[in-house]
Amino acid sequence: MQQIPEYSNEDVCERLVALGIDPHLQDYFRRCIDFHTYAAPGILIGVFMVDYALDLIGKTPADKIFVTCESYKCLPDAPQVIMHATVGNHQLQVLPIGKFAITLTPFTAKEYAEGVRVYIDRKKLEKYPVYAAWFDNRPDFKPAYMKRQLVDEILTAQRNVLSHECIRMKVTHKKKWQSATCPSCGEQIPKNLMEGDICAGCGSLSYYESC
Ligand SMILES: [Zn+2]
Repeated sequence: MQQIPEYSNEDVCERLVALGIDPHLQDYFRRCIDFHTYAAPGILIGVFMVDYALDLIGKTPADKIFVTCESYKCLPDAPQVIMHATVGNHQLQVLPIGKFAITLTPFTAKEYAEGVRVYIDRKKLEKYPVYAAWFDNRPDFKPAYMKRQLVDEILTAQRNVLSHECIRMKVTHKKKWQSATCPSCGEQIPKNLMEGDICAGCGSLSYYESC
C-alpha cells in the first residue's frame, strides 16, 4: 500500500478554514503551529484544551493565570503561545505525570487558587478510532497511512473528547532568598538550592565537562 503523506502546516490551516473552525481558534492554531514548527497532534489538541479551559473559567488569554501541564509532550507550547504563560515568567509549570491534561488557576493572593482541570476523556475517544489508536499508542495506529486521518479526527472532535473538573491547588508565593557561593565552582546560587556544601551543578545535576 502506498504511503499517505501527512498534511503540511499550510494543509492544516486550509483544513481549519474548510471545517469552519472559529477565527479566534484559527489564529491560535496558526501561532502554535508556527512556534512548535509543525502541526503535531499534541499541539492541535492543546489549542482546544486551552481554549476550553479559558471558557470554563470565564477568562481571556490576557488575564493572569497560572498553568500546569501534566505532560512535556507538545502540550506546554499551547499555553505558552496563546496565554504567554511560560516557565520563565513563572506562569507555567510542567509536571512529568504523563497525562494529557492541563489546569488553569487564575492568580490569587490567597493560600489556595481555584480553577479547572481539562483532560482527554478516554471514553469519549471511542467515536474516533484513529485518534483512540494514536492516543493508546497501539500498533494498529500506522503513522505512514493514518496521520491525515488523525488530524482530521482531532479537528472534527474538537472539545468533544475533553472533560473537566473543578480543582483547587496550594499556591507557592514568592519568598525572599539569600545568595550563596559554591566552594567547588565559585559561582553564586540561591542558598536554598545548595546540596549540602556544593551547588547542584557540581552535584546531582552535573551534566558537562569543561574542555
Ligand atoms: Zn558549584
